Amino acid sequence: MPEKCTSCGNLIAPYEDAVHFPCPSCGDVLLWRCEACRRFARAYHCPKCNFEGP
Ligand SMILES: [Zn+2]
Ligand SMILES: [Zn+2]
Repeated sequence: MPEKCTSCGNLIAPYEDAVHFPCPSCGDVLLWRCEACRRFARAYHCPKCNFEGP
């Protein structure tokens, strides 16, 4: 099951330099950032608690 980038909604390829981490606010949701979103420092927001972060 490919993961989706939390910021842009693109599927994340296994070879991509993506990161994932638990939401810094609620800790319940695993947030994913694809390589492009990391590079451009796009904002993400948590689908559960609506936390927005860089
Ligand atoms: Zn992305
Ligand atoms: Zn959250």
